Amino acid sequence: MQKRALVVGLGIAGMSAAIGLRRAGWTPVIVERAAERRTGGYFIFMFPEGVQAAADLGIADHLHTRNPEWRPGGNSWSVDHRGRRKPALGLLDAPSGLAAVLRGDIEAALWQGITGNATEDAVEVRFATTPVDITEGAGGVRVLLEDAGTGKQYREDFDLVVGADGMRSSVRRMVFGPDEDYLANWKAMICAFQMKEQVPSYEASHSIIVSRPKRAMWVFGLADHAPCAWLTYRTDDIPDRFAGPSIEQVRAAFSGMDDDPVVRHVLDSLEQAPDHVFDSIHQVKMPRWSTGRVVLVGDAAWCMNTYSAMGSSSSLRGGAALGEHPDDLAAALDAWETGLRPYITSQRRSARIKQQRFVPSSRPVQVLVSSVLELVRRVVHRRLAAEFTAAAAAAPSGATR
Ligand SMILES: Cc1cc2nc3c(=O)[nH]c(=O)nc-3n(C[C@H](O)[C@H](O)[C@H](O)COP(=O)(O)OP(=O)(O)OC[C@H]3O[C@@H](n4cnc5c(N)ncnc54)[C@H](O)[C@@H]3O)c2cc1C
Repeated sequence: MQKRALVVGLGIAGMSAAIGLRRAGWTPVIVERAAERRTGGYFIFMFPEGVQAAADLGIADHLHTRNPEWRPGGNSWSVDHRGRRKPALGLLDAPSGLAAVLRGDIEAALWQGITGNATEDAVEVRFATTPVDITEGAGGVRVLLEDAGTGKQYREDFDLVVGADGMRSSVRRMVFGPDEDYLANWKAMICAFQMKEQVPSYEASHSIIVSRPKRAMWVFGLADHAPCAWLTYRTDDIPDRFAGPSIEQVRAAFSGMDDDPVVRHVLDSLEQAPDHVFDSIHQVKMPRWSTGRVVLVGDAAWCMNTYSAMGSSSSLRGGAALGEHPDDLAAALDAWETGLRPYITSQRRSARIKQQRFVPSSRPVQVLVSSVLELVRRVVHRRLAAEFTAAAAAAPSGATR
């Protein structure tokens, strides 16, 4: 008989894990707290590891990417405190193989993956359902599930429970211990949303960076979609940041910068956005991601946070790898963690450095980071411009890029 796995959470990690497990011969069942799919979302960089994992999961053909085409002069601008713009090194300029997507693009591709095809059955998904209690016995895990719609609770047995329920995972709390044991507070906030339209006088594909000590605003231009905004700031008083409406919190954090037209446009766009993410920034650090028949994946296990820009790539990779050793569960989870942990550790460490690029901690750091990036930009843009000219010369006459 096929072994059954309960996957808690219909996010990128949960769907990746379900597909990985199904490929290895398991029968996964996903329970999701929300009443329906979360299809929208913010801008995401996918690293080559994530793109490879999407291919391993068989969903690469469904994944829509939105990288703007590079043009001489570049697509990215930084705006200084006097409102002057100058060319900047955008993350998509560097030859790093990054893919620009919306969270909803990955979600949609994974959804196609879990709804099945000619050779694989659809994964069962139960919305508005959460685990209330998890008890491991000799031969399996007994989970008390609650249906939020009816209020009904029922018990069900599984051979494995996968906690893919995000940074504030309830599976982690129930099985491994309280959040305080694993969540490191980065004393910073994030707000992200899709803008209705680009900042006036910039092209839709342009990215714009307004970076000041301790607060920064990034607009990510896309090829075939309105840009996404990503705002972040450092703060010591995280609990206070959740008091009152989040839009007021964000406006207060950027007060004094809003005489700049870019900042004003982005803040006004936040008011018009149908939804937005507003949250404190943390990392999750655990000495081990599994115990017995319960394993955590994605942000629940190793949230590296938004500055790392590796959360979705690592979730895809971690989920895909979960199904690689189907037979002996203990050995399988050991091998999975041994294979994955060095990669996660190095990415987690690099997030502190990346944070300085996204939001410098002080004026001297800002000056240092922008000077280094300007040097790199000149080299990268020179190379890309030469490639662009060579490609244009090689194109059949009359063809346009
Ligand atoms: C603003 C922002 C920008 C980001 N940018 C990038 C980027 O550029 N590159 C990148 O790779 N990553 C980025 N990330 C991170 C990335 O989005 C996540 O790491 C990735 O989506 C993996 O999330 P997850 O599936 O582990 O958790 P989540 O996306 O949090 O999903 C968890 C799911 O579990 C459900 N759930 C929670 N509790 C329960 C429960 N008790 N019972 C049932 N279901 C439950 C939730 O409703 C949710 O559907 C960014 C994140 C943010 C917030």
